[in-house]
Amino acid sequence: MAAPKKLILIVVDGMTPATFERAVEGHRAPVLAQLAAHGAYSRATSVFPSLTPVCLSSIATGATPDAHHIPHLVWWHRTERRIVEYGSSFAALRAAGMAQSITDTIYNMNQQHLARDVSTVYETLEAEGLTTAAVNITCYRGGTKYLPTLPWVTKAAYGPKRFFFYSLFESDQTGAPLAVRNRAAGSVDAYASVVGRWLVTRDGFDFLAYYLSDFDYASHAHGPTGAEDVALARVDAHIGALVDAAGGLDEFLERYAVILLSDHGQTQVAHVAQLEESLQRYADSIVLTASNRAAQVYLLPEARVNAADVARALDGAESVEMTFRLEDGLPVARRDGSDCALDELEHPDAVHRVGAALANPNAGELLVSAAEGWEFADLGGRHHAGGGSHGSLIEGDSIVPVLTIGLDARIERITDVKGAAVAHFGAVRA
Ligand SMILES: [Zn+2]
Repeated sequence: MAAPKKLILIVVDGMTPATFERAVEGHRAPVLAQLAAHGAYSRATSVFPSLTPVCLSSIATGATPDAHHIPHLVWWHRTERRIVEYGSSFAALRAAGMAQSITDTIYNMNQQHLARDVSTVYETLEAEGLTTAAVNITCYRGGTKYLPTLPWVTKAAYGPKRFFFYSLFESDQTGAPLAVRNRAAGSVDAYASVVGRWLVTRDGFDFLAYYLSDFDYASHAHGPTGAEDVALARVDAHIGALVDAAGGLDEFLERYAVILLSDHGQTQVAHVAQLEESLQRYADSIVLTASNRAAQVYLLPEARVNAADVARALDGAESVEMTFRLEDGLPVARRDGSDCALDELEHPDAVHRVGAALANPNAGELLVSAAEGWEFADLGGRHHAGGGSHGSLIEGDSIVPVLTIGLDARIERITDVKGAAVAHFGAVRA
């Protein structure tokens, strides 16, 4: 039997199925259209909350949040009694403490918060003797030690054998420009693209995770449809850079199988809520962590309320579609002022997704999913009203496009990606 092709996983942050489908039918994304013509397209379900740190951890580990332990963009660390903030906004990072937040985002998410008893796709494939590469993806845990490119920072990170992270960690000298130069103009993906081109030119991996984040950034600013005018052509060109580096589409597909997907969707938001205003009377008993279209409420050990009390306090809040909590160990949803079972919800994969979110040991006792068109202000008071957002259980935030080329895999949930990659290489243990 011939050796399996090498595999490239392309994650386009925040791209909705509608955008992908329009892109391949129209003329704006010629590379995506060509790739789609050679592959199998479907839609898959993201995790809840549908926020990038949770989603990328689920893609890279194949585990749901109850197993990988990353609960949200912002959460309460019960044992350290402090907020962990992975970058809701610059103002939120500042509010949570800039140095701590940078350490949490760059190091602790992988080294401390990501559960030890799940393994990343890089760890699993490298244990089989394969070489894996990761470009900019925030779930990167691997076995190779890296010191940052900044001489005054001495703390090491552990990534795959080929590892490139926003110019901060680099396994190889590629000549790529500084990633963080001009975020809004797309410098992060421009960096990824130069590194990706370098890796494909050298054929320097068996498995590559190639993560493009600018589409999500544009969608937050301009809305999911508006982002197509701003960032779709750039995404297409950055994927085209890989194809060009292989010497054209035929050579590219001769050498590589591809999984291309998004981590979550986005929906248009028009209104913003300060959720703490509805919960003021419980301020001494709870910690609220809110960002984008999801929030969590943690009960402090000395709390004199329970999750059901807090859920009832949010009855009638226009910004809240639903809350979720455990009652006697069983998940309960509450909407429109009454409790219901998860299997009564029409939301995609609700039983599975909410169950996994509530069983995460780092999650709050009460999870909040925003109503359509609404966002919750973050720690720094920032929001994306007038643009796009995500995080809730509704379909628009939760369904992603998936394209597979050259591999036999049914990806119905984003947690199926790792298993598909491992099976592709015939590795023995997932
Ligand atoms: Zn986002």
